[in-house]
Amino acid sequence: MSSQIAEHIIAGARVRDDDAKTLPVINPATGAQVALTPMSSPEMADRAVAAASAAYPAWSETPVGDRVQCLFRYKQILENNIGDIADMVVAEHGKTRGEAIGSLRRGIDCIEFASAAPVLMMGRTLPQIAVSTSFCRTEDEGGIGVDSQVDRVPLGVCAGITPFNFPVMVPMWMWPMAVACGNTFVLKPSELDPLSTTREIELAKDAGFPDGVLNLVHGGADVANRLITHPDVRAVSFVGSTKVGQHVYQTATAAGKRAQCMCGAKNFAIIMPDANRSAAVDGVLGSAFGNTGQRCLAGSAVVCVGDSADWFVPALVEAARAIKVGPGDAAGVGMGPLVSEAAKTRVIGYIESGVSEGATLMLDGREGELPLTGCFVGPTVFDHVTPSMTIAREEIFGPVLSILRADSLDRAIDSVNQSEFGNMAVIFTDSGHAARKFQRTVQAGMAGVNVGVPAPMAVFPFAGWKKSFFGDLHANGEDAMRFYTESRVLVTRWL
Ligand code: NAD
Repeated sequence: MSSQIAEHIIAGARVRDDDAKTLPVINPATGAQVALTPMSSPEMADRAVAAASAAYPAWSETPVGDRVQCLFRYKQILENNIGDIADMVVAEHGKTRGEAIGSLRRGIDCIEFASAAPVLMMGRTLPQIAVSTSFCRTEDEGGIGVDSQVDRVPLGVCAGITPFNFPVMVPMWMWPMAVACGNTFVLKPSELDPLSTTREIELAKDAGFPDGVLNLVHGGADVANRLITHPDVRAVSFVGSTKVGQHVYQTATAAGKRAQCMCGAKNFAIIMPDANRSAAVDGVLGSAFGNTGQRCLAGSAVVCVGDSADWFVPALVEAARAIKVGPGDAAGVGMGPLVSEAAKTRVIGYIESGVSEGATLMLDGREGELPLTGCFVGPTVFDHVTPSMTIAREEIFGPVLSILRADSLDRAIDSVNQSEFGNMAVIFTDSGHAARKFQRTVQAGMAGVNVGVPAPMAVFPFAGWKKSFFGDLHANGEDAMRFYTESRVLVTRWL
C-alpha cells in the first residue's frame, strides 16, 4: 500500500499538508492504494490564490509573445512525458492506455491553440470614428478626428475545478488559454485521481512559467467553494456533474465572478434505416463504451428509426459482447474498470432499474468474463427502452446503452429533445435531407453526422445546452480567449 500524499503546488513549490485528512486513491482495476489525496482546509486555497495574486502584475505585463514561449516549451515537455503520465492515468483512473494517450493528445491540442494567443488577443481599431468640433481649430478647421479601438485585457486570478474522468485533458481546456491571456491560475482537480493532474502542473515549472502563475490545490467541496467565492478570484471554470455545476454557477456569479460550468449529459444517437451499417455500429460502440461510458459525450441512448433496429441491435450486441474487459494496461483490453466501487454500485443500480422498469436486457454487464477484483462492469445493452424510463432520462456514466425505437425521424428527434440535457447528439444516415433536418432541430451543443462522438476540438468552442451547461462563453476556441479576457474600448483625440 502506498502512502504517498499528493502535494499542492503553490508559488512554484511542492507543498505537503501532513495535517490534512486524506482520501485514498485506489487503482480501480486492482483495488490497490496508489496514493492519498490531502483533503486540505480552505486556507490552502487562500494560500494558492495569494500566490496567484502576487504573480499576476508581472505576468500580465509580460509580452504575450514571451508568455506563449512557456507554452511552446511546455508542449515539448509534455510530449516527452506522455508515456509516464498516461501510466499514472491508467493506474489512478482505470482507462485503457490508448484512451489515456488519446486524451493527452487532445490536451496538447489545447496547448497548441493557446499558443496562438498573440493573434487571438489582437484588438480592433476604427480610425476616424467621429469628428470633434468642440475645440475646433485644426484639420483644416473641419474638426479633430477621433479614433477608437478595442483591446482584450486579462482578468486577474482565475480558478478551475475539474472532474475525475479526464484528469489531464479537462484542466487543459482551462489553464493554457487563461495564462496565455495574461491571467494567473489556481486549479482544484478531482480528489479521486489527483496524481496525473499534479504532474501536469508540476511540469509547468520546467517550461519556465514563473512561480505562482499556475497553482494547484487539492481538496473537496470546501476548497472548491472557497475558490469560487474568494474576493481575489475573477473567473471560475468548472467541469463536472450538473448538480455541482449549477451550485458552482449560482454561487460564483452571486459572488460577482464570471463563470462557465460544463456539466452532465444524456447523449443520443439516431440510427436511420439507410445508415451505413458498420459505421453506425462502430460509432455507437465507441461512443457508449469508450472510457467505460465515463464521458460527458458518451452516447448512452440510441433511437432506432423504422426497421433499422432489425440490423442494428443484433450487430451492436455482438460487437459489445466481444469487447475485452480488464485492467487498462493489459494487452487486448478494450474497456477498463469504472473509477470506484461507488461508481460500480451506482451503475449496477441503473441496470436493476432498467430491468424493473421493463426494458429488455440484451447484454448484462454484471455477468460474463470479468476480472474477479476491481470495479468492473461489462458492456450492457437494453432494448425496448421507453423515453420515460430512468435509464433513458438520467446520466448513468457507465457502460450501459439504452435502445429506444421510433417510427419516424421527427419522433426520434422529439425523443432526443425531451431530455433535460443537451450536450451532444448524433445521427447516422445516408440522407442529406435527414441529416439537415437533424442538425437544424436537435437541441444539443455538439451535433454529429455519421460520427459517434463529435469530440471537443481545441479550435472550436465546446459546451452543451440546457442542463449540460451554465454560463455564456464556452470552453475552447475563441470563446475561451473571450472568457479569460475582457474588452477595453479606447477613444482618442489629439488636440
Ligand atoms: P463532480 O461534480 O462530482 O465533481 C467535479 C468537481 O467538483 C470535483 O473537483 C469535486 O471535488 C468538486 N465538487 C464536488 N462537490 C462540490 C461542491 N458541493 N461544491 C463545489 N465543488 C464540488 O463530477 P465528477 O463525478 O468528478 O465528474 C463526472 C461528471 O462530470 C459527469 O456528470 C460528467 O458528465 C461531467 N463532465 C462534463 C463535461 C462537459 O464538458 N460537459 C466533461 C467531463 C465531465
